[in-house]
Amino acid sequence: MGDSPVMVWDSVLSDLRTQIPSTSFETWFSEAQPLDYANGALVIGVPDSFKKGGIERRYRETIEGIATSVCRQPVSLEIRVLAPSLEDAAPHPQEDEVTATVGGTLPLNPDYTFAAFVRGENNRLAVAASEATADAVARNLKKPYNPLFVYGSVGLGKTHLLQAIGNSVTAADPTRSVVYTTSERFAIELIHAIRKNGTAAFREKYRQVDLLLIDDVQFLKGKEATQEELFHTFNELHGSRKQIVLSSDRPPEDLAGLQDRLVSRFKWGLEADIQPPDFETRMAILREKAMTRGLDVDHDVLELIAKRISSNVRALEGALVKAIAYAELQGQPLTPRSIEGILPKEGRRPRLTVSHIKEEVALHYQIPLPELDGASRKKEIAQARQVAIYLARELTELSFPSIGREFGDRDHTTIMHAYSKIKLLLADTPLLNADITDLQEALESRYSLIR
Ligand code: ADP
Ligand code: MG
Repeated sequence: MGDSPVMVWDSVLSDLRTQIPSTSFETWFSEAQPLDYANGALVIGVPDSFKKGGIERRYRETIEGIATSVCRQPVSLEIRVLAPSLEDAAPHPQEDEVTATVGGTLPLNPDYTFAAFVRGENNRLAVAASEATADAVARNLKKPYNPLFVYGSVGLGKTHLLQAIGNSVTAADPTRSVVYTTSERFAIELIHAIRKNGTAAFREKYRQVDLLLIDDVQFLKGKEATQEELFHTFNELHGSRKQIVLSSDRPPEDLAGLQDRLVSRFKWGLEADIQPPDFETRMAILREKAMTRGLDVDHDVLELIAKRISSNVRALEGALVKAIAYAELQGQPLTPRSIEGILPKEGRRPRLTVSHIKEEVALHYQIPLPELDGASRKKEIAQARQVAIYLARELTELSFPSIGREFGDRDHTTIMHAYSKIKLLLADTPLLNADITDLQEALESRYSLIR
């Protein structure tokens, strides 16, 4: 077939954009470029091995699935690093994650609308408050809740809701100034402003908006200058009756490491939580996702997916996409039987052990398993080892000395040090956070935990 690499990659990107949060989309794909497409192999280039690893681990299957349906033949993905590794030059992955587009406002994902957001008991208050807020901003009415603070654990729709507010306001009145950002991006933009030409333009930008949406404020932890700046921005906007909407993975009172005066402002308006969806809501979400993709999926298949995946909507959606791609690859109709193998197991699962954790971590970071017990201090290996130790402590009941014995007879102080290091890093390293969430979800779906 005469598909060009550019064409294939463009179709992949436009589909992918609808499937993953826009911040992740930008992080991973803003600099990727198509290099070649021949004999069922799509080759893309990325600037560094950090991106390569990330795309590999998180998105390979999805990309191959989409490319396979675009090209109507099985496609495998190959990722090449175009420039020498920049990792050593950029100590913080967080920086490298956002510098690409510093200064620009994050675009809203047009698919994140209220219409596409399925309501359930789990999110009723959050949706109602979001709609009322959007309406008040669009029509310049008195704001019912300011700020609106939406919280809930990962993958439950916080970003979708925040962006739906933005999209709805922009649709109703395109002259309203809407800014969506994340707390990490806000922080990095501020640092760049300070380094470059002072903060005047930065302040101007943020203090003139009608609606400021800040996603994931839990990552403000430890960022004093950013908290300071946000405090003043908040006061300015609130004082001139402009709307602020925030999201977080926990309620304001649990935001340890944030200045009290900031947290107290977060509580001025309404706190609305989002809980994991119940079975009926999961079914409704799956139907909505299948429909927006123009897919006709059997009730039985949706039901199996909804039964097996319960705590995270992103995972639910991911399983649907994976199931479809998988059935297509196998050239089989999509039935509960045909997708059984790719879903988390039901019933009695083996009890989680440190060996399971090591296997999963080694696979995730693509390093040889024995290295986790070994003495190598190479950065990737040392970090993977620390992650494995962290997970062993979090997910099993073992003491530090027993964990030490499992990791090449290390002393318990070494183990404690590794554990606290990861715990500390987790608070303000979104990428490590994502890695650990992925690992934890993978382990919890296959093994039973005694905690
Ligand atoms: P969070 O920001 O809380 O981690 P996201 O907003 O990124 O979660 O949601 C993850 C995925 O799940 C997105 O693709 C989003 O569209 C979808 N999603 C979450 N909740 C719902 C819902 N109630 N209806 C439809 N889609 C949802
Ligand atoms: Mg989010």
